[in-house]
Amino acid sequence: MLIKEKLEQIVGKENVLTKKAECCVYALDSTNKREFSLPDAVVFVETTEQVQQIVRYAFENRIPIIARGAGTNLCGGCLCVDGGIVLSFSKMNKILEINSTNLTATVQMGTVVADLKREVEKYGLFYPPDPSNLSVSTIGGGIALSSGGAKTFKYGSTKDYVLNLKVVLQDGSVIETGSNTAKNVTGYNLTQLFVGSEGTLGIIVEATLKLIPKPENSALVLVYFDTLQDASNMVNVILQNCLTPASLDFLDRKTLQTIENFYPSGFLDREAALFIELDGYDINSQCQKLKVLCEQNGGKDIKLAINKDECEKMWTSRRASFGACAKLKPNVVAEDVVVPRDKIKELVYGIRQICDKNNLLVCIMGHIGDGNIHPNIPLDLNNPADVKNYAKAKEEIHKLAVSLGGTLSGEHGIGLEKIDYMDFAIDKIALDYMKQIKKLFDERNIFNPGKIFR
Ligand SMILES: Cc1cc2nc3c(=O)[nH]c(=O)nc-3n(C[C@H](O)[C@H](O)[C@H](O)COP(=O)(O)OP(=O)(O)OC[C@H]3O[C@@H](n4cnc5c(N)ncnc54)[C@H](O)[C@@H]3O)c2cc1C
Repeated sequence: MLIKEKLEQIVGKENVLTKKAECCVYALDSTNKREFSLPDAVVFVETTEQVQQIVRYAFENRIPIIARGAGTNLCGGCLCVDGGIVLSFSKMNKILEINSTNLTATVQMGTVVADLKREVEKYGLFYPPDPSNLSVSTIGGGIALSSGGAKTFKYGSTKDYVLNLKVVLQDGSVIETGSNTAKNVTGYNLTQLFVGSEGTLGIIVEATLKLIPKPENSALVLVYFDTLQDASNMVNVILQNCLTPASLDFLDRKTLQTIENFYPSGFLDREAALFIELDGYDINSQCQKLKVLCEQNGGKDIKLAINKDECEKMWTSRRASFGACAKLKPNVVAEDVVVPRDKIKELVYGIRQICDKNNLLVCIMGHIGDGNIHPNIPLDLNNPADVKNYAKAKEEIHKLAVSLGGTLSGEHGIGLEKIDYMDFAIDKIALDYMKQIKKLFDERNIFNPGKIFR
């Protein structure tokens, strides 16, 4: 039986695409890739049983399966290497339960992050992971990449909120990786094995997530610094003075200028700016304390947003950084590296030097509190010189992060984009164990083949 007929038998005609023009859209994600392979079929699954049947069929016929949420990842995670079935979760997007006693939410994988956040807020609860494209990205993509965001500094990333997963394995069976309890030390932690596994070990169909009570209030402080040294030192000052901001984000001069050029937001032309979000109780006294500390430590032109609308307006301007950089040249690549917090300054200076040397523009921003930096590099992928220079700079940036005690990705994942760098960051023995784990869960290499490892 043809692949089209088999899939239509499982999910119905209306849930299968096989025409080239339709499949083309699903051959891409948010990664800048010029060469790609078309999926043989795109399937919109609606039930776990359908996923099981498709996985069984793919296993028997050695057909690749690429799970897909909103396709917004930046690592080539949803790209087909050699055709296959793209499994779209856009119709498996239900919030199945919000339990305000157990502080859990059970959801299907196509649930949009912002929808879950909005729903749990009705119960006075909070799901902290907040990738900046949360209005479109899904819980499934977030779990498969352990997505972070601005609030990771205080609250952690997606991995810290996953209690239990339902996963379809290579033979079509379904397992639960943990339990829906706040604590669990029962055998190996399979849940965390699947978190961040980028769709390479199995297909996640359901997750039980941890929620926390929603913080009472929040405020946002924007503060400028004349030197990067002062900005990174401010992070230590904040921690040493017992403040625990929800977010500690950083924008460099080029990023501030670029946002201001394309989305005027009132940002000043300074070497660095910190976005510091405070939440919880006693917001006014926390803000006062922070303001004084900033003034004593080189902070200038402090701007405070207390009400929700003001905060949201400032965050919207900060989130415009990627879009603004995209206007500098026909393309922009968003890199993602992470170092121990005390190496931020060396990383930022090093990235600037590497980009200068390779004739590339760079706008640097990121989650300074987590040591997680995103160099946004505008370029023209039709210009061979840009492509060559970027390839060189990209490798040097990742080598630099590793040499500073850091690693290849804080939140975007490896996918296809960083596959060649894995041995910079992970020793051979550990890498071999990872490959054996992949083989154990995916002996025929059907789950998102060609990702993470060669
Ligand atoms: C403008 C922009 C801003 C961003 N901001 C942030 C940010 O602040 N923080 C951050 O961490 N990331 C950020 N990202 C990247 C981030 O990876 C994605 O936004 C998001 O987490 C991916 O969700 P998605 O639904 O688009 O997943 P997709 O791109 O569809 O998939 C991502 C990966 O998950 C796998 N996958 C999806 N569903 C399943 C499933 N059910 N089972 C198994 N595997 C599955 C896919 O195969 C793929 O490997 C940003 C991206 C963009 C374009």
